[in-house]
Amino acid sequence: MARNIDGTEISRVMRAEMAQQVAELQAQGVTPGLSVVLVGNNPASQAYVASKTRACEALGMRGQTLNLPEDVSREELFAVIDRLNQDPAVHGILVQLPLPAHLPYKAVLEHIAPDKDVDGFHPRNAGLAFVGDPRAFIPCTPAGILEMLRRENVPTRGRHVVIVGRSLIVSKPLASLLMAPGPDATVTITHRHTPDLASFTRQADILIVAVGKQNLITRDMVKPGVVVIDVGQNRVEDPGSARGFRMVGDVDFDGVSQVAEAITPVPGGVGPMTITMLLANTLQAARQSAQARRT
Ligand code: NAP
Repeated sequence: MARNIDGTEISRVMRAEMAQQVAELQAQGVTPGLSVVLVGNNPASQAYVASKTRACEALGMRGQTLNLPEDVSREELFAVIDRLNQDPAVHGILVQLPLPAHLPYKAVLEHIAPDKDVDGFHPRNAGLAFVGDPRAFIPCTPAGILEMLRRENVPTRGRHVVIVGRSLIVSKPLASLLMAPGPDATVTITHRHTPDLASFTRQADILIVAVGKQNLITRDMVKPGVVVIDVGQNRVEDPGSARGFRMVGDVDFDGVSQVAEAITPVPGGVGPMTITMLLANTLQAARQSAQARRT
């Protein structure tokens, strides 16, 4: 049976390390601060935002949520972002997605000052990340996956990583990070139009799946000894649970676990790492801002 890659435990260790680093920054008079902008009352978004600000506070950072009404205008939202961009106590800004349809999410993300863009979605950060510039904020989910592989001692050099999905927030940055000098992997990206997906996934030494389809990857689609990172988050009805649903990934966990060397569970795999890397990016933003003020 495959070894479980426990994102909750890796996150616990990383957050303890970061709490120490936050305390060191505070001793220099800097308290890292994250401001999350939430538009509307989507319950799933409310829950995500609450867990992000709670995680900040647990580390001794400042976590603030700005809740704006569903019908907020583009101008009002931009004015809020302008204010946060200029506030020296705010080191990281995150606008929770999805936004209501009347708000142009690309323009909104581009309105965030790149040096406070801790989600790493601003084109400037995407470009810096692509060229391997250490000032870049790397989007949290790919950064978390890289950190998991590193901390679990999963070698990547010369190995074939197959990524299923080509999204801007997970798969594309991940491909560029893994093929860069250092990780040195050989990377294949697949998507909806890839014919015979299994012929690619069976070649993977490391298989990363970020699609959003339950049971997309089954036991017959992987080779023995593969390391599987399941990014997918799918709700399935579960009348027996308190919430009436449970979360599953894109991978048939029970089947694939019989042949894989290691696998991330859902929940408890990639998910906790994503929030942990948001904290890491906020810490990085606070450090970079303190350094900029000194020079
Ligand atoms: P996304 O923007 O939802 O796009 C899904 C990708 O999957 C697209 O590139 C799509 O291809 C591809 N795809 C769809 N059907 C496919 C198929 N049959 N075979 C191969 N590829 C297929 O992607 P995302 O934002 O990366 O999210 C993916 C999943 O990860 C979702 O379940 C999301 O909830 C989850 N997620 C989890 C976390 C976390 O922290 N755990 C973070 C982010 C996302 P096309 O481009 O051709 O349409």
